[in-house]
Order: sequence, then C-alpha cells, then structure tokens
Amino acid sequence: MESLYDYSLENLSKKMVEIGQKSFRAIQIYSWLYQKRVNNIDLMSDISLSFREKLKEDFFLYNPKIIRKQVSYDGTVKLLLELEDGMSVETVLMRYDYGNAVCVSSQVGCNMGCKFCASGLIKKQRDLKAYEMILQVMKIQEYLDEEGKNERVSHVVIMGSGEPFDNYDNVMNFIKIINEQKGLAIGARHITVSTSGIPDKIIKYSKEGIQVNLAISLHASNNETRNKIMPVNKAYPLEVLFDAIKQYETNSGRRVTIEYILLKDLNDSIKNAQELASLLKGTFAYVNLIPYNEVKENEFKRSSKENVRSFYEELKRIGVNVTIRKEFGTDIDAACGQLRAKKEGVISE
Ligand code: SAH
Ligand code: SF4
Repeated sequence: MESLYDYSLENLSKKMVEIGQKSFRAIQIYSWLYQKRVNNIDLMSDISLSFREKLKEDFFLYNPKIIRKQVSYDGTVKLLLELEDGMSVETVLMRYDYGNAVCVSSQVGCNMGCKFCASGLIKKQRDLKAYEMILQVMKIQEYLDEEGKNERVSHVVIMGSGEPFDNYDNVMNFIKIINEQKGLAIGARHITVSTSGIPDKIIKYSKEGIQVNLAISLHASNNETRNKIMPVNKAYPLEVLFDAIKQYETNSGRRVTIEYILLKDLNDSIKNAQELASLLKGTFAYVNLIPYNEVKENEFKRSSKENVRSFYEELKRIGVNVTIRKEFGTDIDAACGQLRAKKEGVISE
C-alpha cells in the first residue's frame, strides 16, 4: 500500500488512468488533501462510495500523532510526530514577517556526524518517505488552521534532522508535491534544501530545472577546521565542494547561501572571515552567519556578540553579501540543527 501523500499530481493522474478512472479524479483528490485538508478517504464526499472503497484498497492516509507540542514565547512551534513504525521526528513552524516557514526533517537521525549538531547524535535510523515530509507540513498547516487566522505555510526549509542529499529521490518527490499549483502551491523560490555538501548531488540538483534554493553548511574557512567538525569534509574537501558550487551556479543560474555557524575560538576570528571571503571568490554566494545553539552533549560554545559583529563587519568590508540569522524559539530548542529524532534510551531530551 502507498500513501496518497506520496503522489505528485502527475503520478496520481497516471495512477487513476491505470486503475480505470478518469485522470481528473487526481485533481479532486488533491483538492481534498491540500485545499480542504481532509485526511480521510471516507470524507471525500464528491467521490462515489464504491470508488472510495477502491481507493482504500490501494492507498492509505496516515495521520501522525503529535507526541509533544511546544510553543515558544515568540510564536515558534515545535512538534514531535510519531511515525507509523513508532519512530518520531521533529518539525518546526517559524514566523517571519514575510510568511510562515516550516523546517522539515528528512531522515530519522543523521549519518554525517557533524560534531556540533544535535540531529546527528543518533545515527540514521531510516530515510523519510515523501509523505512523511508532507505530513510535517500538513500538521503545521493544521496548527495554523486551528488558530483560525487564515494563514498558510508559505515557505519550506529542509533543515531539520537528516541530510536531504542522502535521501535525494524522496526529497525531490516531496518538493514536487508541495510545489504543485493545485496542491499546497508553495513557490519553488520559497523552498530551500540545506546540505552538508555532497558534490555529485549538488550537481544533480542544479540540473533539476526548478527554481528551488540551495544552502550549504560550510561552518569552517579551511580544511583543517572543517575536517575536525564535519567528517564529510574528509571525503569532499573544500576545493571539491567549491568546484561543485560553481557548477551549480552555472547550471541553475542561482546563487547559493553559505551557512556558517560561529563557534567560539574555533572559526570566528578575523583571519577566518578573510579566509572565508577568499573561498567565495568566483561565486555569487551569500553568507548567513548562524549564532550557535549550544547542545548539552558537546563542548562547543557560541561566539560572543562582539565576535559575531566583527566577523560580520569584516565580511562586509571585503564586499561579501552577508546576513546574521534571526533566532527562533530559543526557549524550546527549536533551531534548525537542534531538531532531534527520539529513540528510547539513546538520547536525552
Ligand atoms: N543536514 C543538513 C540539513 C539539516 S541541519 C545540513 O547539515 O545542512 C540545518 C542547519 O543547522 C545546518 O546548517 C547545520 O549545520 C545547522 N546546525 C546544526 N546544529 C546546530 C546548532 N546546534 N546550532 C545552530 N545551527 C546548527
Ligand atoms: Fe546531519 Fe546536518 Fe546535523 Fe551534519 S549538521 S549531522 S549533516 S543534520
């Protein structure tokens, strides 16, 4: 059995024809799922009873239980959702001036082993299917619907737990589904994938022909430091990564965002800022400086406000496009990269 949420409109139309129905059935179903937001085949009342029965034989609609809901003083919401096999993932609603963004997890746990990251504290248990990412967006949309202010999810960032490019096909299917005009209609320019930097996937992504955004978790200005905190750098050092970034920019015509967490006494000196600026030469990348959210299981500390400011100023002075990331939900550990998969006994909360 498959989930209806796993289907792009195109695939669902094909599937309808395969099972002897008219392809417009797919549009009807999409409207129930994504406009009326009904998570139950029995309630799709403009579809005949017999066809609803047939649908139930072929497809399922899972409605994840919310194991925990945390709401921050700033309106940020974090949900822990239970998946069908009992595993769980976190997802977050962040409210920006320009809209509502959902931070989606792409795997249960993560195998990339970045030393500073809470999501990587448990090894990857499994990839998430597209429908399990869709359900994260739908549960946040349900929360907004219950608030009754007629707001919708307008942006999606794939920055929760997991490495999206280690689950490439499911992530691309997810993007296609949320981007669908007759579905959630989240604009491609409002969708961002964040990766720890897997060059062949960066290049593949550059050729997808859809105007989605790419963010690269860089977090160091030289190989020596990056090797210490991100094991992926040993397989793909900065030269190889930046070669892929340049190809991405050429192929897609889009610029990347470089994410750079500022860690005290590790990567936050003026010299580091200058190294970073040199790395960026020949790209159109812009830099997003991220205040570190301390994780109790490791020793990393966030840079002081003064160091963040001077790092920022140095990049500006050299002419790099740079911003400092706004912090959300600090009281409920809701920052991207702080989202955890829960597995009894393995990780404390
Ligand atoms: N695996 C992907 C996407 C998920 S992590 C990636 O690494 O890009 C999303 C972002 O949060 C990454 O830039 C990650 O490096 C960052 N991050 C991880 N732990 C963090 C923490 N404790 N504080 C702030 N950012 C963190
Ligand atoms: Fe995985 Fe990203 Fe965390 Fe690294 S930063 S361990 S790639 S989730």
